[in-house]
Amino acid sequence: MEAKVKPLSNMEKPVIKTISDWSVCRQKPLVISGPCSAETEEQVMETAKQLSAGGKCDVFRAGVWKPRTKPGGFEGIGCSSLRWLKRVRKECQLPVAVEVAREKHVYEALKHGIDILWIGARTTTNPFSIQEIADTLKGVDVTVLVKNPVNPDVDLWMGAIERINKAGVNRIGAVHRGFFCCENEPYRNTPKWQIPMELRRRMPQLPMICDPSHMSGKPGYLQEIAQKAMDLGFEGLMIESHIQPENAWSDSGQQIKPAELVSLLESLASEPENEKVDFSSRLLNELREQIDIFDDQIMDMLERRFRVAEKIGAEKRKKDIPFLQSARRSEIIGKAVKKGEGRGLDRDFVKQLFSLIHSESLNRQMKTK
Ligand code: PEP
Ligand code: MN
Repeated sequence: MEAKVKPLSNMEKPVIKTISDWSVCRQKPLVISGPCSAETEEQVMETAKQLSAGGKCDVFRAGVWKPRTKPGGFEGIGCSSLRWLKRVRKECQLPVAVEVAREKHVYEALKHGIDILWIGARTTTNPFSIQEIADTLKGVDVTVLVKNPVNPDVDLWMGAIERINKAGVNRIGAVHRGFFCCENEPYRNTPKWQIPMELRRRMPQLPMICDPSHMSGKPGYLQEIAQKAMDLGFEGLMIESHIQPENAWSDSGQQIKPAELVSLLESLASEPENEKVDFSSRLLNELREQIDIFDDQIMDMLERRFRVAEKIGAEKRKKDIPFLQSARRSEIIGKAVKKGEGRGLDRDFVKQLFSLIHSESLNRQMKTK
């Protein structure tokens, strides 16, 4: 028997509004800023006042419940600090945003009139938590931002957005904050731009906001990441700011002062309005950037390898051992070929590559004193 295809009702296929339909969006890009965490009433009010005076911030953010990797760190002031955000809303005329991870957080935030709820990277990884938040949000008129999960899984990110959207939330946005990365990467969380680009390809109307702070981990990369996001057509930026970044109780290394936020935003070149977004060329550029990162890493590794080889060279000279040890050369090349085969690398290519590397090491050893 042929299965009947049931048409989706409006409830099952809810709309996602574009960012221009969000009342908090006054300019492009939408700017969300404020401290990583609400620490004291004075810190919250002073940061908000300075951000408001700068005229570039559309939404004030502050974490009230902080998910920390290890116990013992500052986990946020909790419910009592929501009152400070209420003051910001009233006295600075700024809509306010907080992170929620549980049903209780959602109730408390809504009770205090919070305008935007954001779901943090660690929470997005867990569909049970997301469903709990979605169930709590049924029938509630609020804006929700979903940060990418810590792992680069576009389905998990999209699944979380769909769960929230299915609960009837139609002002929903994605926040790209980068992905967990290994050592030796310049960023705290690596951008992997192809992941948000894939999300955009699948959900073209979904507003996309970039969080350069958690990606960068330090102020140094904020500008270039924010510019990249603008070039890729992101509609918003979430950047952490603090009146005294060096004394912040969480993420002190990456926050900037409200005045620095203004200069950063002023330095960004906006994308020409008439330039159509070409996803395939963006993807190509992104993939080329990944290649550039790997090439840099190869160069770093070569430099480190040659430095060790030179130390060995100095020892050989001291002990009067010949520089070329044929058995060792065969061992190095043989090991590399075997390992390469396990990784699908061509035998001859690996043989030539490691012969060349080894010969260069010998050249350097011979130049040692
Ligand atoms: C934050 O925005 O302060 C935060 C905890 O972010 P993330 O979930 O991206 O780590
Ligand atoms: Mn933070």
